[in-house]
Amino acid sequence: MKTFDCIVIGGGINGVGIANDAQGRGLDTLLLEKQDLAQATSSASSKLIHGGLRYLEHYEFRLVREALSEREILLKKAPHIIKPLRFQLPHMPHLRPVWMIRAGLFLYDQLGKRKLLPGSRHVEFKAESSPLKPEILRGFEYSDCWVDDSRLVALNAIQFTENGGVLKTRHECTAAKVERGLWTITARDTESGLITTYHARSLINAAGPWVKSFLTQNMQRTSPYGVRLIKGSHVVVPKLYEGDNAFILQNDDSRIVFVIPYLNEFSIVGTTDVEYQGDPSQVAISTEETHYLCDVVNKHFAREMTPQEVIWSWSGVRPLCDDESDDPKAITRDYTLELEKVEGLPLLSVFGGKLTTYRRLAESAMKQIRPFFPLMGEEWTSEAVLPGGDLGHSPKSFIQGLLQKYDYLDSKQAKRIATAYGSRCHLFLTENAKDQGQHFGAGLYQAEVDYLIKHEFAKEVEDVLWRRSKLGLFLKPLEVLELATYLESHKKNKVKGVSCD
Ligand SMILES: Cc1cc2nc3c(=O)[nH]c(=O)nc-3n(C[C@H](O)[C@H](O)[C@H](O)COP(=O)(O)OP(=O)(O)OC[C@H]3O[C@@H](n4cnc5c(N)ncnc54)[C@H](O)[C@@H]3O)c2cc1C
Repeated sequence: MKTFDCIVIGGGINGVGIANDAQGRGLDTLLLEKQDLAQATSSASSKLIHGGLRYLEHYEFRLVREALSEREILLKKAPHIIKPLRFQLPHMPHLRPVWMIRAGLFLYDQLGKRKLLPGSRHVEFKAESSPLKPEILRGFEYSDCWVDDSRLVALNAIQFTENGGVLKTRHECTAAKVERGLWTITARDTESGLITTYHARSLINAAGPWVKSFLTQNMQRTSPYGVRLIKGSHVVVPKLYEGDNAFILQNDDSRIVFVIPYLNEFSIVGTTDVEYQGDPSQVAISTEETHYLCDVVNKHFAREMTPQEVIWSWSGVRPLCDDESDDPKAITRDYTLELEKVEGLPLLSVFGGKLTTYRRLAESAMKQIRPFFPLMGEEWTSEAVLPGGDLGHSPKSFIQGLLQKYDYLDSKQAKRIATAYGSRCHLFLTENAKDQGQHFGAGLYQAEVDYLIKHEFAKEVEDVLWRRSKLGLFLKPLEVLELATYLESHKKNKVKGVSCD
């Protein structure tokens, strides 16, 4: 049986980022993910590529500098799924003083490299045009970026496999040990129950919230660090205001809450910061969190937001490296990579990390294992565009191009497709509308579903509707059922060896 150079456990952003980087440097890599790609934390974020303004208060200068510099690198790598976003920060005199915010924003503008994103400035809110309460008259504005988090994971996974990497989703690594000079990894196919053994020269544990339990339970080792699971929840409501800018609201408990425009029709409101003890896969928003988010919005916005308006919510746990802080919001958001040698073979574990810094984290991981693979290639990911990111034009002109080429698309559909797939949409868009096949609803046709199965590792309804797209917000229950039936028949045909391609 083949021996891999690297086996990576975990198909969240850190696992796929590391696997992709390793494969691109010539290391033969296998990635095992026990659920779908991005099924855990990496689809439950605030969806920001950001420096993290508030981390400055906790003196996290290294993290903020690295994250700020990544914004424009990632924007160039994936201009279809990442876009610049202006944040407005209303100033409430009883909260952080003006001088502190000005100093923070000055640092924020200076710390990272910035050519495309405009700097911060002071703003006046005009009662007739501002969605905020009339007494909120001034504030600040600064830049960060927005990202489709689960698609960032999918795109890295596509690049990884296109470069020859082997990806097994719905394969849980149940044990890992060194035997006869190699890592021996046992994986269980969670659909068929089939057990497979793989061999590798190095093992990378990027299991996110399970990083510690993977070491202690699956490998019977002690974990070099504790992990604090800090739950964060978001709600989606009908849009709270017109316009493209986001808001960053400072609450009187020193927490901040983002309000972010979403899919033209909605606003995302989040996040909370609550210590979490349960099973990370069962994390869900509580009534208290929903009320908390409504309260913060209602302290700032003229229009009231109620829990009854919530259309969708999601929660995730931040797997943070335990720095023994008493306050969940003060625990470091920086990452720690721990390299251990087990009978001479590398075992690298990833503690913490952010979407924003995944690429840099992967580069650090490569640096750590380089002594074991002296012939590995050099850094390559900063310049490499992610699949579909070669738009050739601005995202706006790319959408115009789609409307001209495929006359059956309306502008909403063209925008959705362009900002999800970029140039890869030509793999499933056809000249004639009739060749798109069955329509499942909300502009989702069979051709797109087949593409997602064939090229983006989608298998279940949730993969298609909530992680590769957000069409779950628009499909009616009967339409979801039809899609489920289609995916089931696809699986059965595959088992029988009939290709649906
Ligand atoms: C509420 C919230 C908001 C956030 N907002 C932002 C933000 O706006 N910007 C930002 O940059 N960062 C943000 N983050 C942080 C960011 O989302 C996380 O740091 C990142 O997603 C962690 O990725 P990961 O790959 O380490 O973990 P995960 O995404 O959780 O991936 C770990 C994977 O490992 C798999 N796995 C576990 N055990 C096994 C096993 N035995 N075998 C096979 N697979 C296994 C799991 O199924 C899982 O898919 C936020 C986090 C939260 C919780």
